Amino acid sequence: MTTVAQAIAQSGLAAIDAQVLLAHALGVPRTWLVAHADEALAPDTAAAFAALADRRRGGEPVAYLTGTREFFGLTLAVTPAVLIPRPETETLVEFALERLPVDAAARVLDLGTGSGAIALAIAHARPRAQVVGADRSAEALAVARANARRLGLRNVEFVAADWFDGIAAGRFDVVVGNPPYIAAADAHLGQGDLRFEPRSALTPGGDGLGALRCIVTAAPRHLAAGATLAVEHGHDQAGAVAAMFAAAGYTDVAAVRDLAGIVRVTAGVRGR
Ligand code: GLN
Repeated sequence: MTTVAQAIAQSGLAAIDAQVLLAHALGVPRTWLVAHADEALAPDTAAAFAALADRRRGGEPVAYLTGTREFFGLTLAVTPAVLIPRPETETLVEFALERLPVDAAARVLDLGTGSGAIALAIAHARPRAQVVGADRSAEALAVARANARRLGLRNVEFVAADWFDGIAAGRFDVVVGNPPYIAAADAHLGQGDLRFEPRSALTPGGDGLGALRCIVTAAPRHLAAGATLAVEHGHDQAGAVAAMFAAAGYTDVAAVRDLAGIVRVTAGVRGR
C-alpha cells in the first residue's frame, strides 16, 4: 500500500511536479493532496501516477502530461503540437490590454497563436474586441479552437495563415505575436521542455530574428493609423528588434520589461 505522501516522496521528481501529476492522476485539485496525505492510493491510480512520473523523469513537460497550462488566469489545453505558454508572455498580453480601452470595439490580430493563449487572454479581458488568432499549423489551430469553445469565448476566431500571408485585407488596431526567435545554434533547444516542443514554434533558423523581421516589416500594411504592433523576443534581442521598428518607420517605439526586469517585448505605432 502506498499513501499520497509516500507516492510523492518516492517519485524521484521535484515535489511540485509530483504533486501536479498525482493530482492529475486522481482527478483532484492539488490542494486536496495536503488534507489527504495519509490516504492510500488505489492500485490503478498508483499505476497511472507511476507511468506519468516515468515520462516526467524522461524529460516530458508537465503541461504535456496533464494536457493543461494556466495562462493569464485561464486554463488552456495544450498538446505537443503547440508551444507551452510561458509566464513572460503575460507581459505581452498586459501591454496589448493597455492599448485596448475596455469599453471600445477594436480589431486585434495574434500571429503564430499556437494554443491561442494570447488571443484568448485578450478576447477574455476585452469582450468588445474582435480577435483573430493566426497560425500556419492546422494542429495548432485545432487546439486553439477547442480552447475557445471550452472557454465559451465568441469574440475570437482562428485562421490559417503564414504570418500575414493568408490574413484577409482590413486594418487592425493592435497586432501582437510571440514568434519563434531562438537562434538555430542555441544550446537551449536541446535542453529541458524545449526538446519536446514544436521546433517551428521555437526557432525560425539562422540568427533567430527572421520571423520577427518578417512581422515588423509587413505589419504596417495591416495596421490602422495610430495602431500598435507589439512582439515578444529574446532577452538579448531588444536592440536588434528596436532597430527593425525604426527602419520600418514606426513611431513611439517602446521597450517593455517583464517581471524580471528584462526587455521582452518591443512595440511601435504605425507611422504615416
Ligand atoms: N520563450 C521561449 C523560450 O525561450 C521561446 C518562445 C519563442 O521562441 N517564441 O523558452
